[in-house]
Amino acid sequence: MTSGKRIYNFVLIEESVQFALLVGAIPVMENILKKFKRNGEKTLNIKNIIADDKTASIGISFDVPNEKEIIAIGSPDRLKAFFTLGIESPEIEVRTRKLGSLVDDMNELAQSEENGKMQTLAECANGLCGIISEGQGNKSAEEYINALAKLYDSSSKGNMLLNFMIFFILTNYQYNHKTLSSEWHVFMSSMKKSAARFAEQFNTCVSDMLLPFRNLPKVPESNVRYWNIPEQINASPTDLTVHIYYTHLNGTWKTAYVADDSFLAVLRIYVDMLKQANRIVSNCTICGKLIIKDKTNNSDFCSQECRNVHKREWTKENRIKNAESDVQCLYTQFYNNTNNQKRKLKRSPEALEQYNVLFNELKEKALTMKRGLSDDSPVSEVRAFSTQLIEWEQDLRDLAEQLHEDMNKS
Ligand SMILES: [Zn+2]
Repeated sequence: MTSGKRIYNFVLIEESVQFALLVGAIPVMENILKKFKRNGEKTLNIKNIIADDKTASIGISFDVPNEKEIIAIGSPDRLKAFFTLGIESPEIEVRTRKLGSLVDDMNELAQSEENGKMQTLAECANGLCGIISEGQGNKSAEEYINALAKLYDSSSKGNMLLNFMIFFILTNYQYNHKTLSSEWHVFMSSMKKSAARFAEQFNTCVSDMLLPFRNLPKVPESNVRYWNIPEQINASPTDLTVHIYYTHLNGTWKTAYVADDSFLAVLRIYVDMLKQANRIVSNCTICGKLIIKDKTNNSDFCSQECRNVHKREWTKENRIKNAESDVQCLYTQFYNNTNNQKRKLKRSPEALEQYNVLFNELKEKALTMKRGLSDDSPVSEVRAFSTQLIEWEQDLRDLAEQLHEDMNKS
């Protein structure tokens, strides 16, 4: 009868939580208002998401002339109210940031496998899925909810993409859990089926959301992950849905793009909007980090560090290439000049043979020297090679001259 006991606990906890919410509602609101006055910005109460709807939305609006982006997360209705009527509420989180900040958020999450943020997120999602499928009460979910709330960063520096995923997971959990518990009066057998169905629903949603973050490409020979936007956008469905909201504020039309349960839809719009503002989202040639190129910054690198790495590699590559071509050039010149001497001796096979003995010997020596110089040799060695070749060339010229004179005498 363990499952029966669990059911009883479930109902009890649900009721007590509801009661606690009613009793706690006023102090909670006061806290929110205090926070609002202190920071000038409302923060989302992540531990007590209402979740009337299983959908979590993310919206973006641009203010290119002022180099700003406005990013908001929350339930679909609240975001609509915000972007059409300017209504803020404690159930949305809004940030006005420097244009391009979303790219920083993405970079942080791509590399966060080491600091474990994405790992925690996935573990908590799995834990919550288990709570639903086993029909446990919210009390058992506290551990995961608290871990996610701790990860949620409502400061101005908070990663809004990570915040969105946390909000999304908690909204989905609360909704599925709430709907499941409302079916509690039905028979055990159908209850179990429902639990499995809601758990499945939750799991599918969360996996879809986390998918773009899984299997991000790696920089060769390292553990560094990065976003490859063209590849990731191409791999996503081609019919993403986005709401376009607009409002007439301060004499201008403001347009916002809101996607439900999808980050890739927002990413698509983000990249397109930046492009229209003459900014290209690209990857650092060295470390793969996302960078934004514009008229003032057309660098292929994310930092001076990566630029230096590239410079070192480029110099090395070129030195090798130049050294090789210099050495090859010197040898070719030597060969052609000394080989041409043979024309003078064409009429005398004996003279030609005599010339060829020295020619072949010196040619072999020159080749051996050249082989030793193929990599990035010091300039002094290349110069010594050049001097040696000039000397040998002179020897061969002298010999050819001598043989030519003897030929004419006889
Ligand atoms: Zn870089």
